[in-house]
Amino acid sequence: MDEFSLIQRYFQRESQRKSQQNSSIGINLGIGDDAALLAPPAHHELVISTDTLISGRHFPIETDAYSIGWKAVAVNLSDLAAMGATAHSILLALTLPNAEPDFLEKLAQGIFALCDDANVSLIGGDTTRGETLSLTVTALGWIPTGQAIVRSGAQSGDLIVVSNTIGDAAYALKNLQDQKLNQTLRSRLDRPTPRLALGSALRGYASAMLDISDGLAQDLGHILTASNVAGRIDVEKIPFSPTLTALDLEQRAALALCGGDDYELCFTISPQKFANLGQVWQQQDLPLTVIGEIVQHTPNTERLTVLHHHQPFHLNLKGFKHFD
Ligand code: ADP
Ligand code: MG
Repeated sequence: MDEFSLIQRYFQRESQRKSQQNSSIGINLGIGDDAALLAPPAHHELVISTDTLISGRHFPIETDAYSIGWKAVAVNLSDLAAMGATAHSILLALTLPNAEPDFLEKLAQGIFALCDDANVSLIGGDTTRGETLSLTVTALGWIPTGQAIVRSGAQSGDLIVVSNTIGDAAYALKNLQDQKLNQTLRSRLDRPTPRLALGSALRGYASAMLDISDGLAQDLGHILTASNVAGRIDVEKIPFSPTLTALDLEQRAALALCGGDDYELCFTISPQKFANLGQVWQQQDLPLTVIGEIVQHTPNTERLTVLHHHQPFHLNLKGFKHFD
């Protein structure tokens, strides 16, 4: 199959179907020309982000094609969510070792399943042959001008909040060979959910935000550095799913703090605004948990302090080298 028929067969149908329904607002021209044409809404900024997933590096090589497609889109939409943006469209640059129809069919299904959930259109891309399977997605979204939630806005006195539970994907990665690995946990690794509704609901509420992709400690560290503040988290407050709650505190804390791939949102917010958040966020199935607070940073002190019932909590990370 040549490149053009491959694109047409697996990747063009959705945008065609959608444009027939006339539901892809803002897309003046999609797949099939040299470039796509978009009509950005007035008084909005374009929010744009890209991430590459390489087989064996960003997902286990045995991951099923549907999940690979889903995850490539998910990690990118998660970056838009973390800015508070409304997702609009994606581009897909695909490098394939071979054009295996069954694999491509399922890959496209995974991509379009999440695109449909998020009301996002595939508007273009590139397809090449190469030794290793790799997917680079570029995600585009909009945000009313000046309302993006960046990393540098955290202030002393703000609460530190995370969505859902943390550490599940890292647990799944660590226990991939376990035949009894719970499917819900496995899907937290393979098919993360970008928190787009939460992200946009937090416009005007959160002072700083990011998505947790590399472990809570490192990612929260980015907010602290960008905002020039320090943070304190109470390890006993980190929300865990039942399987992780059953582990020792050391183990589950390491998964949450140093494991990756959660794609939950971590944000800072003033206590006053947090109290009012119920007006815009009532989704019980995506709970929000306060895990600590922002404090002033003083020179020569750690940016992030982890406490356990008010005592310093030191994590022995030697056993978790594979998260490096
Ligand atoms: P060009 O040679 O002008 O770069 P291509 O042959 O690479 O054009 O692509 C033809 C059209 O198909 C373009 O509109 C491009 O955006 C789209 N396209 C190519 N690969 C993909 C893909 N994997 N997914 C979605 N659209 C794609
Ligand atoms: Mg091209």
